[in-house]
Amino acid sequence: MAFGLSRRTAQLRPSATAEISNVVKRMKRQGISDVVSLDVGEPCFDTPPNIKWAAWEALQAGKTAYEPTAGDYELRDEICQKLKRDNAITVDVDDIIVTPGAKFAIYLAFQAVLEKGDRVMLLDPAWVSYEPIAKIAGADAVRVPTFEADGFQPDLAAVEEAMDDSVKIVVVNSPCNPTGAVYDEVTIRTIVELAKGHETLVLSDEIYEYLIYEGRHYSPASEFDNVITVNGFSKTYAMTGWRLGYVTAPKEILKGMLKIYQHSVTCVTAFAQAGAIEALRSEESQQAVKRMVEGYKERRAVMLELIQQSEFFDLSVEPQGAFYCFPSYRLKKPSVEFAKELLEEVHVATVPGAAFGECGEGHLRLSYATSVENIVEAFERIESYLRKKA
Ligand code: PMP
Ligand code: GLU
Repeated sequence: MAFGLSRRTAQLRPSATAEISNVVKRMKRQGISDVVSLDVGEPCFDTPPNIKWAAWEALQAGKTAYEPTAGDYELRDEICQKLKRDNAITVDVDDIIVTPGAKFAIYLAFQAVLEKGDRVMLLDPAWVSYEPIAKIAGADAVRVPTFEADGFQPDLAAVEEAMDDSVKIVVVNSPCNPTGAVYDEVTIRTIVELAKGHETLVLSDEIYEYLIYEGRHYSPASEFDNVITVNGFSKTYAMTGWRLGYVTAPKEILKGMLKIYQHSVTCVTAFAQAGAIEALRSEESQQAVKRMVEGYKERRAVMLELIQQSEFFDLSVEPQGAFYCFPSYRLKKPSVEFAKELLEEVHVATVPGAAFGECGEGHLRLSYATSVENIVEAFERIESYLRKKA
């Protein structure tokens, strides 16, 4: 008997970031212990201890039952305060949904809003999961190119030109994964206004909000009502494995998202939410975040220096946020092939730029969320391998 997949599922490509990370884990399991990972977008720090304690204590105290689907009230209250304090967004607890990761918040939003034939506008290169999540919802993507020569900033005329009534959601991801570009207030505002003119929503993915080294973060929901704001704990608090994100959106959209959530995941792990409360509430966590951001800053400087000295990589505009460099390389080969070769030959894991869209071709995404030693070691291996080959 043949078991077929739905067409929707069969046409999906796997997540490049998740796949590479799985390959690395498999290599390590097979005894290849010297792989240097510059691939996955994941903090290199452990979750701050006070956050772990809060979850542990909650677990011991019996916080082991279902929570409201939208999340623990106390947590949602903390999120409201955070949004007001950091983002000038005024909402109340009923305007928040806590999700198992920001990724699921995006999933719920796309599921709730999109129909077959609808389109989601992405600024290319864009994070690997937006388009597949749109496709799962039956929709498609329209990609507006951004270029290294412009610092990967959106071309507003091109955004305007690509905007039509089939575009139901425009994704704005600042700081951007993979380029590290931070968009200024005027740029984001213009995109949101353009969208509003077509009664289109903007999904503002603010997951890297705290990881900004130059420029300032701007949250469009502080001024506009056609915005879905997605954020989470993974990057800021080094909590990727906890699966904690949240979203605020226009009420009718949240209502739809909640129904899908109730019929699928039910709620986020109860005691994990206690950790999230501690993350937002305590000064100790804020100090830990500051130290981690300083750590990324130091690693960023090291990687930028190594790229500058490199015979094979170029980076004309420094990334302003997140924890990625997105250099181009001087070799004439597809990025998928190049990344595969580096993993096989010198055991350095990177993400091929093409995984983020056409404008990513000719680039590699290198995460500097790893130790300085690893960064230096990776560049030594790559440079000496390529020099020998040249
Ligand atoms: N958005 C962007 C741009 C990301 O890089 C990621 C990757 N972690 C996510 C959303 C999802 O994060 P999480 O589900 O871990 O909260
Ligand atoms: N977002 C991270 C990345 O881009 C983690 C993996 C994923 O969820 O895609 O590497």
